[in-house]
Amino acid sequence: MFNELKEKLSDCEDAAKIEQAYEFAKRLHEGQLRVSQEPYIVHPIEVAKILADLKVDTNTLIAALLHDILEDTDTKPEEIKELFGEDVMNLVQGVTKLSKLQFKSNEERQAENFRRLFIAMANDVRIVFLKLADRLHNMRTLNFMATEKQQKIARETLDIFAPLANRLGIGRVKAELEDLSLRYLEPEKYFEIAQLVSQTKQERELTVQLLMDQIQNDVQKNGINARITGRAKHYYSIYSKMKRLNLAFHDLYDITAVRIIVDNEKECYEVLGLIHSSFKPIPGRFKDYIAMPKGNMYQSLHTSVIGPRAKPLEVQIRTGEMHEIAEYGVAAHWCYKEKGSQKVTEDKFSFMRKLVEYEQDVADAEEYVNQVKLDLFSDQVFAFTPGGDVFDLPVNATPVDFAYRIHTDVGNRTVGALINGRIAQLDTKLKNGDIVEILTSKHPAPRVDWLNFVMTKQAASKIKQWFKKNNRDENIEAGKSNLEQELTKSVFDENMRNGELEKIAHQMNYVSVEDLFAALGYGETTVNKVVNKLKKPEEAKFEETITHAVHKRDRTKDILGLEGMMYSIAKCCSPIPGEPIVGVVTRSKGVSVHRIDCTTLVNVEPGRMMDISWAGKNTDKTYTTSIRIETAEKIGLLKDIISTVADNKINIQYANVKSRANLGIVELGIELDNVDTLKKVINSIQSIPDVFSVKRIQTSTFSPSKKKK
Ligand code: MN
Repeated sequence: MFNELKEKLSDCEDAAKIEQAYEFAKRLHEGQLRVSQEPYIVHPIEVAKILADLKVDTNTLIAALLHDILEDTDTKPEEIKELFGEDVMNLVQGVTKLSKLQFKSNEERQAENFRRLFIAMANDVRIVFLKLADRLHNMRTLNFMATEKQQKIARETLDIFAPLANRLGIGRVKAELEDLSLRYLEPEKYFEIAQLVSQTKQERELTVQLLMDQIQNDVQKNGINARITGRAKHYYSIYSKMKRLNLAFHDLYDITAVRIIVDNEKECYEVLGLIHSSFKPIPGRFKDYIAMPKGNMYQSLHTSVIGPRAKPLEVQIRTGEMHEIAEYGVAAHWCYKEKGSQKVTEDKFSFMRKLVEYEQDVADAEEYVNQVKLDLFSDQVFAFTPGGDVFDLPVNATPVDFAYRIHTDVGNRTVGALINGRIAQLDTKLKNGDIVEILTSKHPAPRVDWLNFVMTKQAASKIKQWFKKNNRDENIEAGKSNLEQELTKSVFDENMRNGELEKIAHQMNYVSVEDLFAALGYGETTVNKVVNKLKKPEEAKFEETITHAVHKRDRTKDILGLEGMMYSIAKCCSPIPGEPIVGVVTRSKGVSVHRIDCTTLVNVEPGRMMDISWAGKNTDKTYTTSIRIETAEKIGLLKDIISTVADNKINIQYANVKSRANLGIVELGIELDNVDTLKKVINSIQSIPDVFSVKRIQTSTFSPSKKKK
């Protein structure tokens, strides 16, 4: 058993130290058996083997061999320190501490909190690695457990550990954890998929082989050295796809991923070009994770093409280093850097920085390391309810914040709190892992002085709200008289009489005019907002008008491929005649028409896309789209722009103006017939002096007429 580990360590200078740890652990676990009836030491060895494959450092391997001795034997932490050093002791203690964390895995939302808590408590990412390897080996040997226990452990693995592995970018461990979980949670599905994957293997491989031959040929001609492989995706990803799209196995076409590994980044894009020139790409499926790496540092180009024999295939293109990172995550990175580098820790944690998207400029590297180690989530504390639910709260949050997080009603009725079973002041600052029980009275009675110590906006606003609502009559009076003053008595009376104010109240989601007045009284909304709605009804209705127009006009004849179908023009990209478009079948609203380069298409399954095109450029209807103009900040420029647009006989739906750092930004919603007109108007705006750039945009970023709620 240990020999296999030894082989993996053949080129490791510290092999002797690791062997010493093995002998030590073996002696301590002597006589202990696993449920499988194997000697206990098999488990730590297997955990160390998993970690050796992840290329972790020597101390982590030593800690892997020792990871259960504090829990299962009489060993004291000091003994570990004496024999193997403080770092190893900290690692073993860290894993032991995490093992004691109990988790009721029900809700996804809380699973995410738990993962954070987990990382926060680990305070060294290597501890999380140890725990993941420990869990992986336990999952591999789960068949020895009772069914009920299998279910519980598999559920926890799927909710907590697989996402954790994903977060750290260890794709390999994540996939195995997911597959093993599926096997115990849904054994029938698991074996069905496994069988189908193997049954269809031959046919699939034929298609993949054809594609691989073609690509191999293309890359060779271009002098690129590429390793090409094609494999079925792992079972769990097939399973979740079937479930998500509600498809049968045979309706899933892209269960194979072709992977191409090249020498450098430039070649990734070259290969992509070669593939797209040999096989038709499926629109909206290209993802550039090289330019925009995922949060866990995953990098690759993804595309889907119509492959040989008209079978769609997914292709991933990456360099060798990107591949290592995809498989081993953060570990791959420190292994790359570790060779010959003295500043291992610094590099390791500069990677961690990106990993947790923790951005802050810290001049001193050491200070930075300490911050990351101790405070991955330094701005948060995690506290539990006695039932095991966990809430993340800002640092210095109190039981009152906690109470309002549970429910407003609980907050309002709070009279006291128990922290870890002891009576505590309501302004006590909560610590990570505290178990908080809120004591409530029958009747709500929040106190104003809570506002002095609550940390969450939620608690503060609920407390204020309670006091405001409980003085409703005064608030109505105050709100009403404020509005009267602003509008003058006669205008106010007029708008009360004709029901205009009531309409506005409804628009603003108030049940009655009184509620609107009360809201004005306690400052939930402002007199200005109400006055603006009275003054500019046409602007406020903007959004409604467009939606309405789209439904009213019959554009079926404008688009080929949609005859007789219910559809709408997507607002995210507002395509206009003459531009390449694609249809997306929606669940309930028919087909939504997008520009082919619309960024929202990235998330759309290719099976939902429809091939459609404009019937022609000349229709008697108009379409709305938005453009963004950057200008010098100059008075009068907006007038020039608007009259230029008007000269082109184009309607302006709205105009927004903003200035930012010596730049004027104008966004226009314009109504026009086709892409030629759009080009014409862009050109003529471009030729106005002091206009820097004119761009088509997806949607207005600061439209004043955003819908309420
Ligand atoms: Mn263990």
